[in-house]
Amino acid sequence: HTDEDFVNTADTDYSRQVLRKKAQQALAKVKDSLGKTYLPLINGEYVQTDVIIDSLNPSKSSQVVGQIGLISVEQAEQALNAAKEAFTGWKRTPATERARILRKAGDLMEERRHELCAWICLEVGKILQQADAEVSEAIDFCRYYADEMERLDKGYNYDVAGETNRYHYQPRGIALVISPWNFPFAIATGMTVAALVTGNCTLLKPAETSTVIAAKIAEILVDAGIPKGVFQLVPGKGSKVGAYMVNHPDVHLIAFTGSREVGCRIYADAAILQPGQKHLKRVIAEMGGKNAIIVDESADLDQAVAGAVFSAFGYSGQKCSAASRIIVLDPVYDAFLERFVDATKSLNVGPTDEPSTQVGPVIDATAQKRILEYIETAKQESTLALQMEAVDNGFYVGPTIFGDVLPNHTIAQEEIFGPVVAVMRVKNFDEALEVANGTDYALTGGLYSRSPEHIEQAQKEFEVGNLYINRTITGAIVARQPFGGFKLSGVGSKAGGPDYLLQFLEPRHISENI
Ligand code: NAD
Repeated sequence: HTDEDFVNTADTDYSRQVLRKKAQQALAKVKDSLGKTYLPLINGEYVQTDVIIDSLNPSKSSQVVGQIGLISVEQAEQALNAAKEAFTGWKRTPATERARILRKAGDLMEERRHELCAWICLEVGKILQQADAEVSEAIDFCRYYADEMERLDKGYNYDVAGETNRYHYQPRGIALVISPWNFPFAIATGMTVAALVTGNCTLLKPAETSTVIAAKIAEILVDAGIPKGVFQLVPGKGSKVGAYMVNHPDVHLIAFTGSREVGCRIYADAAILQPGQKHLKRVIAEMGGKNAIIVDESADLDQAVAGAVFSAFGYSGQKCSAASRIIVLDPVYDAFLERFVDATKSLNVGPTDEPSTQVGPVIDATAQKRILEYIETAKQESTLALQMEAVDNGFYVGPTIFGDVLPNHTIAQEEIFGPVVAVMRVKNFDEALEVANGTDYALTGGLYSRSPEHIEQAQKEFEVGNLYINRTITGAIVARQPFGGFKLSGVGSKAGGPDYLLQFLEPRHISENI
């Protein structure tokens, strides 16, 4: 099996001066090319649009990173027609050839790594080190799904004397990929290349706030040799053009990652059979989380505090895997909270192009307002333990910690998606697991413990798609920690794992009497 042979690409070692210098040079170069216009790619052409919007740098909101052309409903229709036309050729293209194009795309990403990190840093406000991990993840997706498709393409052979029995996979048709802004490069790439390598003609509808990065993915796929109409970039407003394509009878498959509200909407919309539609749509929906870390009385508190700080405040808490609840057993609660607050205070909050920054801004003004409202609600319900200052020339929210949060409080239940953490006190380990499992979500979870009984109990009873024991709960690696949740976190699909591509394929069986 290829999993064992798979080698993950290495992140940049920023302790090496020569690489730090390259990264800074790339950042300077990208800053010199801000403000350009990025147009949709339809049937192999970059097309003009009636509507153009600005994509802003969240660290410095007066700076326009790029101007984005948004497609109209008519242009969505043209793209779907082009995809239909291209499908005949793409489904007949051998899997090895499709895999070759993906591997080429991965190599091009590797060559452009520092430049891509700079775009991520400036368009969505991510520090370079974390942008770099995201580029690695995207490269891994290209290479891993290429390997995986070649494995699946062999099919299965169930022959008996006098009869051949062959089981194989074929593409579904037209895939619509709808991606979020928080992993603008890795998640958009992962869903797109999975859909492509399995032989589907694919339309990428990125989040409005991260479309410059999506345009870089398009550039790379074109350079890697993807045929026209097979991949198309269709930026647009989710609620308008996104919803139009979700409801379109020609779409076979929707791969969505984003919020629970939109995911549930798409799931419902896609279930409705439209006039002329002769298939049921497959929906892959990966949604939010309300992830908890449990710290028990046996935990190494040094490790637990450092892990909680990184898991909660890395990328300002805007990872779907981020910790937003820390559930602490009574005997260590006071010591943990005090040390957690102290460690958080030492974080540098600022613009993400500053090498010393550890926590940057949040994505946009709407997110900033929503998060500040949650903070006000939480002040009514529980005890404010820390609210750090926010810089004022971008969309900043200072890291914020609440203590004495109870399971029924708003910030213990709703996904905030910002640098706000609820610390919760529990009497014993059973109660810790009950509180941890007491939300609608099941994405990631963590446990800091040196008790073999607790570790075993958590493995059985902690209801999450990805459980991390005595380590941070973010940063899943392709082919090592296949990633995704269940309950209202998603349909249980595991990105970067051995079952992922099956969702993009239609299995067939042929039996022949010989
Ligand atoms: P979002 O749901 O607001 O948007 C996601 C995408 O859906 C965007 O491209 C948007 O334009 C589009 N969209 C919006 N309304 C639509 C509609 N009616 N029809 C079709 N498309 C529509 O999410 P976001 O703010 O971009 O991302 C943050 C969310 O994503 C968080 O909830 C986070 O937990 C989740 N997330 C989950 C995972 C995971 O693997 N489970 C990974 C990353 C992010």
